[in-house]
Amino acid sequence: MGEFRAGLGWDLHRLVEGRRLVLGGVQIPYEKGLAGHSDADIVAHAATDALLGAAGLGDIGEHFPPSDPQWKDTPSLVFLRRARELVEQHGFSVVHLDVVVILERPQILPYRERIRESLAVALGVDPASVSVKAKTAEGLGPVGEGLAAEAHAVATLRHR
Ligand code: MG
Repeated sequence: MGEFRAGLGWDLHRLVEGRRLVLGGVQIPYEKGLAGHSDADIVAHAATDALLGAAGLGDIGEHFPPSDPQWKDTPSLVFLRRARELVEQHGFSVVHLDVVVILERPQILPYRERIRESLAVALGVDPASVSVKAKTAEGLGPVGEGLAAEAHAVATLRHR
C-alpha cells in the first residue's frame, strides 16, 4: 500500500465592494467579494496549497505568481486543477480534502453542496471525499468585523 501524506493550506483575502464572492469555484450572491489578482477564491487557494504541501511541491505563489499577468482574474479552480495534475505527475493521487471557511457573512450552508461538487470535479474525486465546513469568527478580529475571509484546507494524498 502506498504512503499517505497530509498537506495544509491557508489563505485570507480582504472583503471589498465591487468584487464577486467566489468560494470553491461557486459564485455566491453578496454585497462584497474577495479582493485579489485572480478571483481571490480563498477556498481554491487553500486547497491548492494543501495539495502542493502534501506532495512537497512548493506553494501557490511559486507556481502561479500574482506578478504574472496571465493569472489576472483567473478562475482559481484552474490553479487547483493544475496542482492536481502536478501531484499526479509526481505519483500522488488525491484521497480527500477537508476545508474550513471562516467568514462572518453571508451564510455558506446553502451553497455547501455545490462547493463540494465543484471542488470534487476539480480534484477528480467523489463529492463524498470532499468536506466543506463554514464558521464565523464570533465578531472578533478583521474576519469577525467582515473585513476579510479566510480558509483552511487539509489534503490527503496517497503515493502510488
Ligand atoms: Mg490567495
